[in-house]
Amino acid sequence: MEKDSGYIFGPVPSRRLGLSLGVDLIPRKTCSFDCIYCQVGKTTDKRTENKDFYEPLEILSQLRKRLGERHPDTITLAGSGEPTLHKGLKEIINGIKKITDIPLALLTNGSLFWRQEVIDAALGADIILPTLSAGTEGTFRRIHRPHPEITLAKVLEGLGRLRNSFSGKILLEVMLVKGVNDQDHEIEALRDAITQVAPDRIQLNTVVRPPSESYATGLDSERLEQIRRFFGDNAEIIASPAPKDSLKKSWVLERDLVEMMRRRPVTAQDISSVTGESLEKINQLVEELLSRRVIEERVHEGRLYYTVK
Ligand code: SF4
Repeated sequence: MEKDSGYIFGPVPSRRLGLSLGVDLIPRKTCSFDCIYCQVGKTTDKRTENKDFYEPLEILSQLRKRLGERHPDTITLAGSGEPTLHKGLKEIINGIKKITDIPLALLTNGSLFWRQEVIDAALGADIILPTLSAGTEGTFRRIHRPHPEITLAKVLEGLGRLRNSFSGKILLEVMLVKGVNDQDHEIEALRDAITQVAPDRIQLNTVVRPPSESYATGLDSERLEQIRRFFGDNAEIIASPAPKDSLKKSWVLERDLVEMMRRRPVTAQDISSVTGESLEKINQLVEELLSRRVIEERVHEGRLYYTVK
């Protein structure tokens, strides 16, 4: 089976990794979690069992070709599902390291490191970006709606083992959802849990783009800053990056825009920032894609987003 949209997307500006070329290894919404804040939509294949979803050699071939056209800051295993569910993860990571010395990042929900083969595969990456958003089992289940086989205790055990084996950087994302995991007692429990993982950085995030569940809303900047202070100097709020000069060229290709929207909803301003093209030009292109029903509009907290239908 092949992915219709191809395996490589971007480069896109990442809040955490600069200009990031994405490698999408997993079918859309195949994940061990079904997070209430997920911007890709509801999980349709919730699993912990790994599988050879796509052919590693084909993924590597597409990446090699794209690297001939673009030079990103980072290559990121990410996309529309959980990458550690690919049985060939180790082969793919080792293959990428043979093609290029651009730093390789693994963006993961962090739920499967209790499996030794997942740790073994991930050790080939330069940066690992797991998520940990709850310090109590009930909140963990409420926010991530995990596969029944996954518990917070297992996740913490796995992340602790990862920390002991991995010498690269671990940047831990904490996704904060208003009224779900932002209360003082939740934040205290989370801090205790994070201590077991000992990440290099704690990166605080909140719901900005249209979520899977409309009740999942973001924190305001004042509360985010209070929580950042509570976590200490090792914590930061991850904010939208400035546009990169290297992308400020005529990059507005329909294929690239559609690829971007397939992975996450974007605003016209997002597209304009990435591409350096005027809002007027972006709006024209978006109108055309809307009229052809290639994309659709979604409104979230008063902002207009575009996503692939
Ligand atoms: S946010 Fe990530 S981990 Fe959560 S359901 Fe979506 S793809 Fe899976």
